[in-house]
Amino acid sequence: MKMVFLGPPGAGKGTMAVRVAEEAGIPHISTGDIFRFNIKNQTELGTRVKAILDSGELVPDSLTIELVQDRISKDDAQSGFILDGFPRTIPQADALSSMTTLDRVINFELNDEEVVRRLSGRRVHPGSGRTYHVLFSPPRVEGKDDATGEDLVQREDDKEDAIKNRLRVYREQTEPLIQYYRSRDMLVDLDSSPAPDTVYAALKALLNL
Ligand code: ADP
Ligand code: ADP
Repeated sequence: MKMVFLGPPGAGKGTMAVRVAEEAGIPHISTGDIFRFNIKNQTELGTRVKAILDSGELVPDSLTIELVQDRISKDDAQSGFILDGFPRTIPQADALSSMTTLDRVINFELNDEEVVRRLSGRRVHPGSGRTYHVLFSPPRVEGKDDATGEDLVQREDDKEDAIKNRLRVYREQTEPLIQYYRSRDMLVDLDSSPAPDTVYAALKALLNL
């Protein structure tokens, strides 16, 4: 199944994508993770996009589209994939529709207050991308990754000023995609406010997993 997880930052797309990808045996493709991997490894792409990610603005469409085109043409993505964080603009959605046919777009719904609560408590393990929350899904040992014991960090863009900017960017550039996909009869809404296991159960039911 080829699907897109759409929704505001912090709605839980990544958390659910990891679980669905494992259950369905398809890759989880997160453009944010790909950019962060490149920043961490100081590649040319990483150097180009670091300041953009830190501020919460969007990476230019042309660059992002090329990256996704390349990724979904790989062998492991032929029978399905979860795109998490892409598309984020109408031009990206148009480009995606010329690359492939999607089965489903899941719209993760969460209000701004809860978005801020989730993002400000988010902690990540940079090596793996594993995500925790200081209150809602804390690691076994404070500040340490469960699997490796390595330090968890707070993303630069999960600090207050960048969070506000990202919500504004989401409203202006990404939210119009809800209507874009709804009018094409591809969108399914998902209430993302309950606890993770409840959201996951609802998502599995939607996807017939
Ligand atoms: P979130 O956890 O807020 O959903 P992501 O990890 O998806 O954030 O994205 C982090 C940052 O990476 C974005 O704020 C943006 O700078 C960049 N980015 C990720 N995906 C895209 C995209 N499809 N188009 C442009 N920029 C993107
Ligand atoms: P996104 O990929 O949409 O930006 P994440 O999956 O990274 O969002 O989740 C944002 C934060 O909220 C993380 O700290 C995560 O642990 C936490 N979280 C995810 N889903 C839930 C949920 N259903 N209830 C409470 N917290 C959640």
